[in-house]
Amino acid sequence: MGHLQTNALPYAFFQGKIVPVEKAQVNIQTNALQYGTGIFGGIRGYYSKKGKYISIFRLNDHMARFVNSLKILGESIEYSKEDLINITMKLMKKNSPQTDTYIRPFAYAGSLSLTPNLERDNPFYFAEYMIPLGNYLSIDKGVKVCVSSWRRISDNAIPSRAKISGGYINSALAKKEANQNGFDEAIFLNEAGNVAEGSAMNLFIVRDGVLITPSKTDDVLEGITRRSIIQFAKDLNIPVEERTIDRSELYIADEAFFCGTGAQVAWISEIDHRKVGTGRRGKITGTIQDLFFKVVRGEEDKYESWRTIITV
Ligand code: PMP
Repeated sequence: MGHLQTNALPYAFFQGKIVPVEKAQVNIQTNALQYGTGIFGGIRGYYSKKGKYISIFRLNDHMARFVNSLKILGESIEYSKEDLINITMKLMKKNSPQTDTYIRPFAYAGSLSLTPNLERDNPFYFAEYMIPLGNYLSIDKGVKVCVSSWRRISDNAIPSRAKISGGYINSALAKKEANQNGFDEAIFLNEAGNVAEGSAMNLFIVRDGVLITPSKTDDVLEGITRRSIIQFAKDLNIPVEERTIDRSELYIADEAFFCGTGAQVAWISEIDHRKVGTGRRGKITGTIQDLFFKVVRGEEDKYESWRTIITV
C-alpha cells in the first residue's frame, strides 16, 4: 500500500512554517503517534460566497481551550494563544478555501523515545492543517442514538475537559458500537452512571420548557458550541440548567440535540428506540438550531464579536 491520498487543503503549518501539506510528515516512532500524547482543537470556518470570506467561529475561545489542554498536561509550546490565532489566520489566507473549512491545530510529543512520557526530553511541537468539511451529522433529519455500553473517560484517568489525542479511542469505541448496532451516534454515561455527552459532541435535552445539559463537572469536554448555546438561551429567556442528568430522563425528554464544532446543532429523533417527543424537531431545538446557523454565517449582528473574518 502506498501513501493515502490527503483531502487536506494544500498548505499546513509544520516545524515553524507554512509548507505544502505533503511535507507535514512525522517519523513512525513519534511518541504522539504511538501513545496519543498530543492535544488538538477543532474549529470551523464558514465560507461566504457573497462576501468572499471565511468566517472563523470563536477562534480566540478555541485557542484558549487549546492552551488549557496543554496546561492540564503540564506542557507548553513555543507559541502563545495570540501567536496561534495569527498562524491560523495566515494559514487560512494562504489556503483561501472556497468551501466551509475545518481547522485542526495539533500539539504533539515529538520525541522518538520509547516511553510514553510528558517530560522535558519530549517537547511538544505545534502543527496545523485544514480540510473542507460539510455537515458531520445530519442536521435536517433527526439522528438516532443509543446509550453506549462504554463509559466516558473520567477526569482522573484521562482529563475529560482537555482535548487529548489518546482520549479519542473512547469516542471511536462508542461510535463503532453505535454504528454496528444501526445507530447514528452514541451517548456516553460517565463512570458515576450519569449522562455525559456524545462521542465528540455535547448534549442538551429539553424538559417542560427548560433546556438542560450536563454540568462541566460531569466528565464532558467544555464545548465552545455548548457555551454558545447557553448564551443563546439566556439571551432568548429560555431557562437553562447545567446539572447532572439521569439516563431515564433521556427517555422522557421532550426534545434532545447534540452540539459541537463538527456536529453543529443536530437534533435527535430517537434514543434507544424510544421516540424523543414527537420524533420531529422540537420547538426550542428549532429556535436554537436556526439561531446557531444565522450566527455562524454572520446573519446576527449581536454575536459579531465571535467571528474572525478572513477574505479569500
Ligand atoms: N465533546 C467532545 C468529546 C468533543 O470532541 C467535542 C468536539 N470538540 C465536543 C464535545 C464539542 O466541543 P466544541 O463545541 O468546542 O467543538
